[in-house]
Amino acid sequence: MTGKMYTDPIEFVEVSPRDGLQNERTIVSTAQKLALVDHAVASGARRIEVTSFVNPRAVPQMADAEEVCAGLPARDDVTWIGLVMNLRGAERAIATGRITQLGAVAVSTDRFAMANQGQTSKGSVEAASAIIARAADAGLTGQVTIAASFGCPFEGEVTEDRVLHMAEACAKAGAVEIGLADTIGVANPVHVTRLVERVKRAIAPLPVRVHFHNTRGTGLANVWAAIGAGASVVDSSIGGLGGCPFAPGAAGNVATEDVVYMLERAGIGTGLDLERLIETNHWLAGVMGKELPAMVGKAGGFPKPRLEEREIA
Ligand code: ZN
Repeated sequence: MTGKMYTDPIEFVEVSPRDGLQNERTIVSTAQKLALVDHAVASGARRIEVTSFVNPRAVPQMADAEEVCAGLPARDDVTWIGLVMNLRGAERAIATGRITQLGAVAVSTDRFAMANQGQTSKGSVEAASAIIARAADAGLTGQVTIAASFGCPFEGEVTEDRVLHMAEACAKAGAVEIGLADTIGVANPVHVTRLVERVKRAIAPLPVRVHFHNTRGTGLANVWAAIGAGASVVDSSIGGLGGCPFAPGAAGNVATEDVVYMLERAGIGTGLDLERLIETNHWLAGVMGKELPAMVGKAGGFPKPRLEEREIA
């Protein structure tokens, strides 16, 4: 196995307020979204994807993007990420005065790019590049996620060269990080290892972030493979909520508490508090009115923390 030693801490992007909720039919109130953000921050999250600035008719759950931003706690130790698809979205995010990082999306295939944002794959790279430039103008940072990096719901297999060239183009445009997203949950650990290694080499010293959906149960194995191959940032969602309204059959993101359990038990620091994440899972399950997909959220951690230690901490 090439790649890093399993010792460096991993950074997390908590995506539950955006990717976690966007596909849920139950409309979650602005106050509940802000409570989720508070829970995430209290659990140790320091990068949070708080909302997306998209057409509310296409994604009704994100219609309160401005209101969510206005209610964010005053924490300059937290990076507040707003997902944007075009310059109009970028202007909305910048105008909030609260978003500190723009997240752009480039899509690996033409058919998915058309369904997701009404443009070609090449057009989506150009749009992402324009968003990155606009972020820099406004004094913000910008990163790009390459959607359907491991397979497309419409076109099937996606070549590694295609994703590699897109990553290079986005890095050249000034992105501070490149994310590889398995939007429909079809990746396997060998594919992940190969693509992360290639992209990491191509964009060094920029970090590679990974975004996995657990649609076919390979999410955690893919996270492990990605870290072994040198990815240093992981997107995850408390409770394992998540999905894409434009990707048929998409299921939840890898659950924050499941990934944290795996990594911490393996001696890899996460900066996150597992017990608080589990408490947040139970709270969020109440909000959503259903049990959430996360495994550790149901089973609890191991070994159980002693009560008196929790109280002292
Ligand atoms: Zn996703």
